[in-house]
Amino acid sequence: MSFKLPKLSYLYKDLEPYIDRKTMDIHYNKHHATYTNNLNKAISNTNLINLSIEEILKIAHTESPMIRNNSGGFYNHNLFWEILTPNTKYTHPSGEFHEIIKKNFNSFDSFKENFSKIAANHFGSGWIWLCVKEEKLTICSTENQNNPLMYGMGCEGIPILGLDVWEHAYYLQYQNRRLDYISSFWKIVNWIKVEENYKIYIKK
Ligand code: MN
Repeated sequence: MSFKLPKLSYLYKDLEPYIDRKTMDIHYNKHHATYTNNLNKAISNTNLINLSIEEILKIAHTESPMIRNNSGGFYNHNLFWEILTPNTKYTHPSGEFHEIIKKNFNSFDSFKENFSKIAANHFGSGWIWLCVKEEKLTICSTENQNNPLMYGMGCEGIPILGLDVWEHAYYLQYQNRRLDYISSFWKIVNWIKVEENYKIYIKK
C-alpha cells in the first residue's frame, strides 16, 4: 500500500496566532509531504509495502535509516495534525478525561508543567509524547523522527498526543523561543481527539 498525506480538518491560517499560516503550509506541504513521498519510495519493491504504518514502525529498527526516519516522520505528523484544532470548544479536556489526567498527574496543570519541562529541555530535534500503557498515562520524548511505537525507545506505550519540537515546527514564527511555542501549543490541543485516542487504545 502506498501512504497518503492526510487531509487537514482546518485551514493553514486557522491555528493563528498560535501557529502561523506560513509555518503550517511549509510544515505540511514540504516536510510532511517529503516524509510521505520518501517513505513510499523506500518501501516500494520491498515486502513492507503490505504492512500498516504501525507494523512498519515496530520493525523499523531492523530497516535502513531511510525507512526509519520517513516512517516516523509520516506517522508523527499524522498524529500531530489530528490533535490540533482552532475550535476552542475542544481545547480543554472533558470532565471524564480531566479525571483521568488528574489520576495520573495530580492535576491538569501539573501534567502540562511536566510535559512542557521535558519539551523545553529536549536537546535538538525530536518529539514529546503523552502515551497510554495499560490504562496508565506517561510522558516521554524521542530524538529525530523516532516514536514510542519503535523498538527500544525507552518510551513505553502508544502515543495519543505528540508535540513536534523540531525547529521547522516553530522557527519562522518563534525563532529560538521554544518556550513560547510550547505555551501556544496548549491553546490548540484538541483534547476531545486525545481522549478518543485514549479510548481506542485502552480497549486493545
Ligand atoms: Mn515536523
